[in-house]
Amino acid sequence: MTRTRVEAVHIVWITAGLGCDGDSVSITAASQPSLEDVILGAIPGLPRVYLHNPVLAYELGGDSFMTWWYQAERGELDPFVLVVEGSIPNERIKREGYWAALGTDPATGQPITTCEWIDRLAPKAWAVVAIGTCATYGGIHAMQGNPTGAMGLADYLGHSWKSWAGIPIVNVPGCPVQPDNFMETLLYLLYQAAGLAPMIPLDDLGRPTWLFGRTVHEGCDRGSYYEQGDFATEYGAPQCLVKLGCWGPVVQCNVPKRGWMAGIGGCPNVGGICIGCTMPGFPDKFMPFMDEPPGAKLSTGIAGAYGGAIRALRNITKSTLNKEPSWRRKGQELATGYQPRW
Ligand code: SF4
Ligand code: SF4
Repeated sequence: MTRTRVEAVHIVWITAGLGCDGDSVSITAASQPSLEDVILGAIPGLPRVYLHNPVLAYELGGDSFMTWWYQAERGELDPFVLVVEGSIPNERIKREGYWAALGTDPATGQPITTCEWIDRLAPKAWAVVAIGTCATYGGIHAMQGNPTGAMGLADYLGHSWKSWAGIPIVNVPGCPVQPDNFMETLLYLLYQAAGLAPMIPLDDLGRPTWLFGRTVHEGCDRGSYYEQGDFATEYGAPQCLVKLGCWGPVVQCNVPKRGWMAGIGGCPNVGGICIGCTMPGFPDKFMPFMDEPPGAKLSTGIAGAYGGAIRALRNITKSTLNKEPSWRRKGQELATGYQPRW
């Protein structure tokens, strides 16, 4: 546990991985807490927060923006959290050029690769956070057949890597990340930096346990259709989507339980199959997305067999529960069974 109170934390955010900036955009939709709440100090007890993200920065890029990177490298931003967005290309597989870079080296006039920034900054960072599935595990850019040899941050730095403060790489997957999932994780780290929280609880893949400990299916409000063997056969139907390609029962994600923004939206809960976008095996192990997952055939077959009988029995009970008790009627006599006691 960090016990030394810090007054300010800088967040140095590299969006120059192989990515689409979707996670940077996504977090602007957060409300618990919002980015504005964190930056403007609306939450008591937190350190002041200075965010350096090229998508959201006042400086709009350029040399003045890059000064934060050089300050971080010189150890002048202390402490800072390094956030990496986008997958990490393999710069060793080619002789010239670069896959991804940010800024220009004044000494050489050459672009500074994203990998080099990670090499320079990760050892100085109080904590390193990978945002989105590309940065955490490689994601779509690291799919079979890609030319860049892309990988996740832990593949690049090492899965047992820890910051100088003893914090493992914090992985917040999702494609894109669910807005409040990331902001909650950041909030936790700020509380930890302030000495107000113990070490962030992570599973063995670096995911915050309170966000990724359960499956999509365990939080899906179509789960009761599955249990009753009632499966959708076309899009737009309200039933369970497993036969249309939903991987929810084996995917760790809280989106259907949480909703996307302010409890609204999601994936299978609102009619879209879960494609496993938070998982290290995404996307290759889930494709083709719109086919029924092979492993689902056995459980849906069993659920279909007993679920039909259960549903019929429940419908009988439901029809009795849809009738009011007989004593609720007009008449000269009380028929409720009331017994006067005095
Ligand atoms: S739609 Fe997907 S997550 Fe929801 S109950 Fe069906 S299989 Fe599970
Ligand atoms: S429910 Fe599935 S598709 Fe939706 S965000 Fe979670 S893992 Fe991705």
